[in-house]
Amino acid sequence: MRQMALIVTNPATEETIAELDAAGVEETDAAVARAKQAFKEWRAVAPTDRARLLRRLATLVEEHAEELARIESQNVGKPIAGARAEVGMVAQVFHFYAGAVDKHYGQTIPVAAGVDMTFREPLGVVGLIVPWNFPLNISSWKLGPALACGNTVVLKPAELTPLSALRLAELILEAGIPEGVVNVVVGPGRVVGQRLVEHPDVAKIGFTGSTEVGRGVMQGAAETIKRVTLELGGKSANVIFADADLERAAAAAPYAVFDNAGQDCCARSRILVQKSVYDRFLDLLIEATRMVKVGDPKDETTEMGPLISAEHREKVASYVADTVSAFKGDTPEGAGFWYPCTLVEASNEDRVAREEVFGPVAALIPFADEEEAVTIANDTPYGLSGSIWTENGARALRVARALESGVLSINSNSSVRPSTPFGGFKQSGFGRELGMHALDGYSEIKNVYLATGGG
Ligand code: NAD
Repeated sequence: MRQMALIVTNPATEETIAELDAAGVEETDAAVARAKQAFKEWRAVAPTDRARLLRRLATLVEEHAEELARIESQNVGKPIAGARAEVGMVAQVFHFYAGAVDKHYGQTIPVAAGVDMTFREPLGVVGLIVPWNFPLNISSWKLGPALACGNTVVLKPAELTPLSALRLAELILEAGIPEGVVNVVVGPGRVVGQRLVEHPDVAKIGFTGSTEVGRGVMQGAAETIKRVTLELGGKSANVIFADADLERAAAAAPYAVFDNAGQDCCARSRILVQKSVYDRFLDLLIEATRMVKVGDPKDETTEMGPLISAEHREKVASYVADTVSAFKGDTPEGAGFWYPCTLVEASNEDRVAREEVFGPVAALIPFADEEEAVTIANDTPYGLSGSIWTENGARALRVARALESGVLSINSNSSVRPSTPFGGFKQSGFGRELGMHALDGYSEIKNVYLATGGG
């Protein structure tokens, strides 16, 4: 049975930009069947040929970068400059995995009376479920390693932001990747996503989304003992010590939480500041936050756009209702799901500091010393990213080792690079994306023993 139509909206104008038929269980099953059929051919493609096809895809993404950036900017409300940078990363990710295809191999292991070998086998059909905040980027983080390992794919973008994945699917075919290897199914998560999770012919789910939905994905996958990679929510700390370069830390902090209007799993939305420099840092931070240019995503100089939807804006506002704001910025008049850059002074017990707001809201929390900074930073169910700002190298590494997070930066807020592993501790999920590590999540190790003598 067909689902209702999906209305796709531009969050900056509230205008409808597309109407699509939503897929249901039947279309999902058909996509899995196509992927299963295509697997027979794709797994047998020589690694050097898979590499060539992925490289061609990377080049096509570069050639269509402006078009893809505009689609993403319009559908998500991202500033065009940021959308271009994201598309640039998508191309880099495909280039990286093109280079990785024939460098992910097995071993020979010394054993008595024979030869023992390991092989990296593809899993089969993998279901890739993607959120709305970085639709194209996160799709590439999963598609790159999945295809490099020889799997075929059913990709489910978020209902709110399906447009870039649909365009990418066309480029995938144009690159020469055979039909059926990548299938994009657009429909509601609880229908299409859930069907992928339950489908007996889907070997793995690569999921990025909220911790709440991720929990259900893990439960649903248990029935068929599916492999799962979960990239979930975050509530990361940006820890500023008194001996940090405060000007630099304060200038960078707004972008670590207001980037993508705060709809970023890596947002450093808890800013922990050592008490002795708290007032000075707050002044610098307010000054830097004032500079964030909020407005029309089409404008080349815009740094922050709207939130994704009216419903989401309501949720973000609910976190700020009972807090003391140290700063609230301006937003454009008229249509659009705007929300201002907001700094609140909080304790780590407050709801705004405990839950993922997923909007442009930073909670400032003072700490006395290194021990207390680590205690507060780790006092969260999440463990995705974080930053440490200090001029003391030993302290930087000590704190980095003590923090329960998968992706940390020192004197920087950078989290993602195509070649380095990305993923969470605790309820931020498990498994790693990007870099060579992601290939382990899209392959199975097979051990083969060849008897060469009596054994
Ligand atoms: P979401 O969990 O609501 O949805 C994510 C995807 O899951 C969507 O495609 C949705 O349609 C699908 N889905 C919904 N219900 C489902 C079900 N029952 N079964 C299977 N799939 C289902 O998340 P969102 O609101 O799209 O994205 C925001 C969340 O994603 C935030 O929590 C954010 O932190 C997280 N996120 C994490 C990372 C990371 O790498 N750790 C990156 C980006 C976003």
